[in-house]
Amino acid sequence: MRKLVAGNWKMNGLAAGLGELTALKDILKSAPPACDVVVCPPATLIAQAAWTVKGAFALGGQDCHVQPKGAFTGDISAEMLRDAGASFVILGHSERRQYHGETSEAVAAKARAAWRAGLTAIICIGESEAQRNAGDAPHICRGQLNESVPPEATSANTVIAYEPVWAIGTGRTPTSADIVAMHAHIRSCLVGKLGPAGEGMLILYGGSVNPGNAAEILNLPQVGGALVGGASLKSEDFLKIIAAVKS
Ligand code: PEP
Repeated sequence: MRKLVAGNWKMNGLAAGLGELTALKDILKSAPPACDVVVCPPATLIAQAAWTVKGAFALGGQDCHVQPKGAFTGDISAEMLRDAGASFVILGHSERRQYHGETSEAVAAKARAAWRAGLTAIICIGESEAQRNAGDAPHICRGQLNESVPPEATSANTVIAYEPVWAIGTGRTPTSADIVAMHAHIRSCLVGKLGPAGEGMLILYGGSVNPGNAAEILNLPQVGGALVGGASLKSEDFLKIIAAVKS
């Protein structure tokens, strides 16, 4: 399976910043990357982004509601994301879990909503610093996977993003050995839960990936790509990360 490099713009970006996507499109069209690429801008920009990138790479949302439509002021459904031009949606990001109280059960319901609309769910899991220091990271991630990933998940409809919370936006990353060990653990949890469907499912690493550390992280065994926050905002940096994928 091709690796995937996903950019999460979070609550950043105005229409005036879509030039970053034009630059990304132009370079990826002239030099096709060795991996798949998706950018998840704020929902307000997805439709304009779709016009801008014209299919040169995929677009995604950053969250969705479980219902397709209805009286849910301020929410956005998976169908609306799809209609705007998205084919992916990030679910259960630690910022949603922290600031919006999203539970793993809610994430599982959102994954089913994403699939209903034809979106691929990027389901995020990861331990806090205190949990890691207590030696609980494998146990926490197993629990999050069990509760956040519905049993109908397949490698075609779901991608897992392992994002240690303490590495997000901090400039700190686990050692390569720790990343490999956690990815191997996640793989064994997925296979235990999903059987053969868990074998081919992409497991992205996320947390302070940048142009300087991308080549090492992205080419580790079991690392199926990266979920990139801050370094996805500038096309120059994001392109360097994409170019670091060897195959
Ligand atoms: C993220 O928010 O998913 C993320 C990985 O952020 P950053 O790359 O900025 O650490």
